[in-house]
Parts: sequence; structure tokens; C-alpha cells
Amino acid sequence: MAGLVTKSTGSWYQVLGDDQQRYECRIKGKFRTKGIKTTNPIAVGDRVTIELEQEEGVAVITTLEPRRNYIIRRSINLSKQTQIIGANLDLALLVVTLASPPTSMGFIDRFLVTAEAYSIPAVLVFNKLDLFSDEGLEILQEYQSVYTNIGYTCLSVSALEQTGLDELRAMLQDKITLVSGHSGVGKSTLINALIPNVSLKTGQISSWSDKGKHTTTFAEMLPLPFGGNLIDTPGIRELGIVDIEPQELSHFFPEMRERLNQCRFNNCRHVNEPGCAIIDAVEEGDIELSRYESYLSMYHNEDSRH
Ligand code: GDP
Ligand code: ZN
Repeated sequence: MAGLVTKSTGSWYQVLGDDQQRYECRIKGKFRTKGIKTTNPIAVGDRVTIELEQEEGVAVITTLEPRRNYIIRRSINLSKQTQIIGANLDLALLVVTLASPPTSMGFIDRFLVTAEAYSIPAVLVFNKLDLFSDEGLEILQEYQSVYTNIGYTCLSVSALEQTGLDELRAMLQDKITLVSGHSGVGKSTLINALIPNVSLKTGQISSWSDKGKHTTTFAEMLPLPFGGNLIDTPGIRELGIVDIEPQELSHFFPEMRERLNQCRFNNCRHVNEPGCAIIDAVEEGDIELSRYESYLSMYHNEDSRH
């Protein structure tokens, strides 16, 4: 039977079978992800085939369908292992707040670059709209125009007061969406508002999830009542790009990508080269300085890219 992986701990997997039953699964055989060593060979969002076992609700994963995409992060320990956070994603959503807590443009830009590197469309959801003064709203608009001008959708919501959610629901419907954000931005409140029965805060730990060793840091797929799924990423502060080369970085800034062939040198780093179309565009105000600064900081600082 075919199914969708809804939870992945590295040793146990939960699969929603095409019969709409949930199965606790182990895996049979070796599943490799090309080029990386992973702690969880099968990830949330994967399409798999399962074979049912004697015991009710238990099955074995036997095959993995090719992935359209997947997002990884490095394991916290120092081994070279990586964890696959989610596969077959349609959308990557970043919940952002300008205050309490502030989300920096550098953080937003790293998220967007990651999504670009994985070819996953990204959306910014600005939360806590109810807290904004008139002055705050002006700053919010400036932030949003930086990102809408380069093609990213920005939504404004109040998860607490449940405003602005219809547009968000329409965007999420029938898609698999990865949800990220700094701790405290209202990610859980937002997910609770979208999925009224999910009650994320109470953090119920089922006997099933006790079987996984690092359960709390593993992503989980949550079905949306209007169709589609969210992948919550508890404890995952930042998504990781493992194999992005500095000379590739400008391809993941849409406003740079479209100007790259105008630089005088085709190996231009856009740092201090003469005839650089990117630097010219920054000076003309056609590329936001904050975005270019993010580019430079990512270009020069290996660590912030992981
Ligand atoms: P998470 O860490 O991103 O999951 O954030 P939580 O959902 O736990 O929210 C952190 C705090 O922000 C809680 O006290 C929430 O009540 C509050 N909060 C979340 N959304 C909103 C909002 O839209 N407006 C206001 N004023 N507070 C919010
Ligand atoms: Zn250049």
C-alpha cells in the first residue's frame, strides 16, 4: 500500500496509508539520500510503500518514491550527519515579528536564500499585527515592500485575534508547507488558529512518540482542516544549506539573479569588482542595501550559511 510519512524519528516512522489509517513503521533495507549521511533516511512528506505486519497498525516501509525536493539541517552533534526535516514541500513559510521578538532582515534573507536553493516558493507571514502602532505599521510596510518588490508574498496577520487568516488559508490549501520562525513569534498560536483541534502548546506526548529518541526536535506533519498539511519544525531554529558555494550565492537572490549577465566579469563576486551590475544597482537604489548586506555577510561568513 502507498502512504505518506507524517512523522520521522530516525527509528520509527508514522505513515498515513492510502486507506486513511495511521501505521507505526520501521524500515526494511537501506535507503540512501545521494551525497549526504542522514540520521533519518525517510522523512516527513515522503511518499512510500508499506507492507502491513501481523500486528494491527504496524507496517514496514519497503520503498521510497523519488523526492521532488527536501530540506535538511545538520545534526546538533559534531558528526557529519544531517537530518532531513521535510520532503516534497510546496511552500516554505516564515513567521516574522518586527518586535517581541524582533526578526532581523539578515535572518529573513538567510531563510529566503535557503528556500531559493531548494527551489521551494517562500512566503513571509508578519504576525502580531494587533500590537502595531501607526508608526509600527509604516515600518512594517517598508519591510514588506522590500520583499514584495522582489517577488515574495507577504501577509500580515494576528494569530491571537485571528485576523488576516483567510488569505493565509487560501495560500496553504492543498499544499505541504514547512513552517519556521524564531521562538516566540507566535508559530504555535498561528498553527492552533489554523488547526483548532491541534493544541500544540499542551505538548501531549503519546506513547508512540516515546519510541523516538529525539522526538521533540523532529518535524511533524499536521493536516489542515481545509486540505493540505503543515510541517511544524519545533526546536529547529534555522534551516541548513549544506552544499551552497559562495560563487552560487547570488543566484539565490532573485534581484541579483536577473542582473548577473550584466557584470563586466563573468566570474564577478559582486564584492568590489569594477563594472559590477549588482553594485551599480545597489548604488542606484534598484537593489535594497539590506539585501546586498545580507549577501555580503553570507558570502564572507561560512557559518551563517549553515
Ligand atoms: P512560538 O514560540 O513561535 O510557537 O510562539 P507562541 O505561539 O508560543 O507565542 C509566543 C507569545 O506570543 C505568546 O504569549 C502568544 O500569546 C503571543 N502571540 C502569538 N501570536 C500573537 C499575536 O498575533 N498577537 C499578540 N499580541 N501576541 C501573540
Ligand atoms: Zn558583479
